[in-house]
Amino acid sequence: MQYTWNDIKQHVSACTLCPLSQTRHLPVMGRGDHQAGLMLIAEAPGNQEDQQGLPFVGRSGEILDKLLQDCGLTREEIYITNIVKCHPPSNRDPKEEEKKACFPYLKYETFLLKPRIIVCLGRVAAQRIISPDFKITRQHGAWTYRKDCSLTATYHPSAILRDPSKYELVKGDFDDAVKKLKQNTK
Ligand code: URA
Ligand code: SF4
Repeated sequence: MQYTWNDIKQHVSACTLCPLSQTRHLPVMGRGDHQAGLMLIAEAPGNQEDQQGLPFVGRSGEILDKLLQDCGLTREEIYITNIVKCHPPSNRDPKEEEKKACFPYLKYETFLLKPRIIVCLGRVAAQRIISPDFKITRQHGAWTYRKDCSLTATYHPSAILRDPSKYELVKGDFDDAVKKLKQNTK
């Protein structure tokens, strides 16, 4: 059977497949243009996201919007989602069992979207999606090619909140991704 976007959303909204379901307030499904060529994959919803049930509505979201704006894009033109759809208590890293339980949702999202470009935001997404030993410090902005999709990773927007001097570096990685998107090349 072929799942639709709505099916995935319904499943996520009622999901109890991992222990995060017991502590979350609202699950946070990915959001954006279902035709987008660019998919951003981050880690897990934060507090604000947990309260509102939407991705990147807190302080990291403000940074993300600025990055996108500075690259000539808006949230409406991309698709953004997380490795786990429920907020881990105290913003701890998601556990292996949680990432594993949640992964099918991300697979369906990716299958339906068929993005040309994937940008992982932060270590947790990069290590899950690109390679288990991915080091953002050394490898941010490097490209990997899989079938019809180009993948890269950069720092999570929350790293910019902790260290604003990282902004330009992340902006550079975003610029590259947008250039690829616009050129339709790999
Ligand atoms: N940080 C994330 O990784 N995801 C969100 O949705 C919000 C903040
Ligand atoms: Fe389900 Fe994912 Fe939430 Fe766990 S994190 S309860 S697998 S939606």
